[in-house]
Amino acid sequence: MTKRTITVIPGDGIGPSIIDSALKILDKAGCDFEYEFADAGLVALEKHGELLPQRTLELIEKNRITLKGPLTTPVGEGFTSINVSLRKQFSLYANVRPVLSFKGTQARYDNIDIITVRENTEGMYSGLGQTVSDDGATAEATSIITRQGAEQITTFAYELARKEGRKKVTIVHKANIMKSTSGLFLKVAREVSLRYPDITTEEMIVDATCMKLVMNPENFDVIVTTNLFGDILSDLCAGLVGGLGMAPGANIGRDAAIFEAVHGSAPDIAGKNLANPTSVVLASIQMLEYLGMSDKAELIRAAITAVIEEGDRTTRDLGGTHGTTDFTQAVIERL
Ligand code: NAD
Repeated sequence: MTKRTITVIPGDGIGPSIIDSALKILDKAGCDFEYEFADAGLVALEKHGELLPQRTLELIEKNRITLKGPLTTPVGEGFTSINVSLRKQFSLYANVRPVLSFKGTQARYDNIDIITVRENTEGMYSGLGQTVSDDGATAEATSIITRQGAEQITTFAYELARKEGRKKVTIVHKANIMKSTSGLFLKVAREVSLRYPDITTEEMIVDATCMKLVMNPENFDVIVTTNLFGDILSDLCAGLVGGLGMAPGANIGRDAAIFEAVHGSAPDIAGKNLANPTSVVLASIQMLEYLGMSDKAELIRAAITAVIEEGDRTTRDLGGTHGTTDFTQAVIERL
């Protein structure tokens, strides 16, 4: 059988070291992948003079599956976010961000199992109509929600819920105020929900959702929402399980998928062997599940769960004293 080839983008800051951890763990678990490495972000700007070189785009398209480290978007005019560009370019319409409690973290809760399904290409992040008046007094941006986009993402969320044996989907919106955009999203989501009578549907306004997520997070199962709300709520959810070091994300489209950690390049700890590789390891578990390799996914999940629970070889953000490489080695020894 030919080996599956994965595009790997190590990225910036802590990216190369946590991606290295993930690849070592995948290899030890017996995942027989070929890797093709590609540059993006600051490292690509330095080497090739552009943030997102053509070869990188070609490899993402050719191999369809990409494991990606965080990228630094330079601050200043003329640089659009590389992550936003990738999502648009490959129509990666679904951003799937699961959070799960692990024993042994210093998280406030120990019973969380929530998947946020965020629309990834429309809404306030579509980047359209961004202007600032000449006198700097007024800024404008356009939010676009389409029936097709809302239908696609809500169908994705319900299908995911069904596939994973989940009981409830919460549609999060602000249709009481943003009557056109959020209103259309809610209307379409309601229509889609009728096709899934086996799954309980709940509607919730985004501000109330924040409060309820903090007070009773165990009541949530699958959340589906628009781009901006999903971005914010999924970070809130990451906080419920111990922070950004524990949060993976998959960007899924019809022809390509990119798996990554939710966090950024963490320049404050880059090069110090301090980064927690768990998020990107969990992202590679999402990748394995997407590829139908659930046995390998479970193997790695069990190993990392055990190392975090034991707690004597974890990184600083998890309350431990160990470095990225030692934590990774502890997971490898469990496989
Ligand atoms: P960040 O997520 O990089 O860091 C926030 C805080 O969390 C820092 O204190 C950092 O040390 C800590 N942290 C993050 N990941 C960690 C890990 N794995 N282990 C331990 N601690 C960790 O956010 P930021 O500093 O606001 O952003 C830095 C850069 O990353 C920016 O250029 C931003 O644009 C970029 N960014 C990229 C992505 C992506 O590529 N998906 C996502 C978010 C931010």
